[in-house]
Amino acid sequence: MENFIEQIDKRRTFAIISHPDAGKTTLTEKLLLYGGAIQQAGIVKGKKGARAAVSDWMEIEKQRGISVTSSVLQFRYNGYCVNILDTPGHQDFSEDTYRTLMAADSAVMVIDAAKGVENQTKKLFKVCTMRGIPIFTFINKMDRDAQNPFDLLEEIEQVLGIETYPMNWPIGSGKEFKGVYDRNKKEILAFQHSGKVGQQQAEKIEAQLGDPGLDELLTKSLHDTLSEDIELLDGAAYEFNLDKVRHGMLTPVFFGSALTNFGVEPFLADFLRLSPPPLPRDSSAGPIDPRREDFSAFVFKIQANMNKAHRDRIAFIRICSGKFERGMDVFHVQGGKKVKLAQGTQLMASEREIVEEAYAGDIIGVFDPGIFSIGDTLTTAKTPFAFAGIPTFAPEHFSRVSQVDTMKRKQFVKGMEQIAQEGAIQIFKELGGGMEEVIVGVVGVLQFEVLEYRLKNEYNVDIRMQNLPYSFIRWIENEDCDPKALNLTSDTRRVEDFKGRKLLLFTNAWSITWAEEHNKELRLSEVGR
Ligand code: GDP
Repeated sequence: MENFIEQIDKRRTFAIISHPDAGKTTLTEKLLLYGGAIQQAGIVKGKKGARAAVSDWMEIEKQRGISVTSSVLQFRYNGYCVNILDTPGHQDFSEDTYRTLMAADSAVMVIDAAKGVENQTKKLFKVCTMRGIPIFTFINKMDRDAQNPFDLLEEIEQVLGIETYPMNWPIGSGKEFKGVYDRNKKEILAFQHSGKVGQQQAEKIEAQLGDPGLDELLTKSLHDTLSEDIELLDGAAYEFNLDKVRHGMLTPVFFGSALTNFGVEPFLADFLRLSPPPLPRDSSAGPIDPRREDFSAFVFKIQANMNKAHRDRIAFIRICSGKFERGMDVFHVQGGKKVKLAQGTQLMASEREIVEEAYAGDIIGVFDPGIFSIGDTLTTAKTPFAFAGIPTFAPEHFSRVSQVDTMKRKQFVKGMEQIAQEGAIQIFKELGGGMEEVIVGVVGVLQFEVLEYRLKNEYNVDIRMQNLPYSFIRWIENEDCDPKALNLTSDTRRVEDFKGRKLLLFTNAWSITWAEEHNKELRLSEVGR
């Protein structure tokens, strides 16, 4: 039986980020394949019609063939306990993705070798750098026509502003993609298929650079190009520096093809070796050491109404210290009450399982009777503390929402509040106003449909929605600010959120500048803290 500290130290909890279609789902699946969590690729998440084993939650998901919610997958590999936070790739759900990143200790950035750094990658990368977590890069789809690897590295450095260090180097690309050269071991890994492409683990052949037998396998021209590339690389600027990796200043880069499994296993092995175990997290009582015995965790995601008959929710929590045991009593800091964590569930590859125990670094789902909000802290510490909040990201679309049938006011209010608690939408009201009319802000417009659908199906309330012309939101950071006294353009709206924080809604960027220029003391923030 491993002891408590060993359990924590072998945990690796990370999220995979990418632009839609770069290959996040495929890579996740292949990691599970190599982790032995699944025997055959192709069953984890099928888009449109295929078996959706991991996240089948809402009709909308099925109708649209997209994954609305993120799930957590756990597997063991080489003595490590690996937690993958799967994030929804669809750009309409980026806020959920942002929050998921708050629960990760590192991130894997998947880049399409033909397309390079894309829009969504940039946004997600920014959130990772905000947290200073290590970022590992997997350049995918090398089995297709790809950009020159040197150009790809340069693009990552220029566009994202992070140093790169190629851990391995591709041998050819497209149909000629034969494998990778491991720079650390100075070894060539050539891959071969067995059986149907990508379903089973790829076979690998290990060889040294300059090995004459290689010409047969690689062709002489590939062999020569590789030797030249390696010489160039070894003379290149950046040295490998683990400290920089750990602070998100240098990204180790791996080349491969998730579809054919080429380069997946070397990536996994190096990633686990170089990525950090759970690290201390900031709280109101200073950094909390994951190895301390008190249990502590924070809520980063709430998944609603798994069972329509009850308003049950599952709160996903990231354990930050100590050990979870089923049925334990913890203090819910924001609610000021003790609660029993009656049900702990965890998603193992394809099924939901009841967890008896879990450790710092793990993500579990616990039963939520409707009391938790995103960012809440749970702990058994004698002197309770709160983890630093999860920032609220700026919504970009706004609508005024009211109920059609005024008799259903109670359900309307409850529904709106609960859905907002889950973080799917943000709700605002007039300064000092009530819930007759609510302004809803979302990061992606699809959330409006989700809101309408859920209010109707779960709360039996029809709503009216009217688009509002705002596209920018800023939280007022000055504590003592009276928004009514501000000098603003006439199209700027003053509102407050449900925590009583004051905000401004703008129709254009110019009005923001105007507000700042005409109110010298005013401090505005894109993030609600
Ligand atoms: P996601 O949207 O980032 O989760 O991307 P998916 O994993 O769903 O992949 C998008 C498409 O690219 C699918 O059709 C995959 O089969 C394909 N794909 C993923 N990885 C590779 C790869 O390494 N090579 C090739 N040729 N296709 C890939």
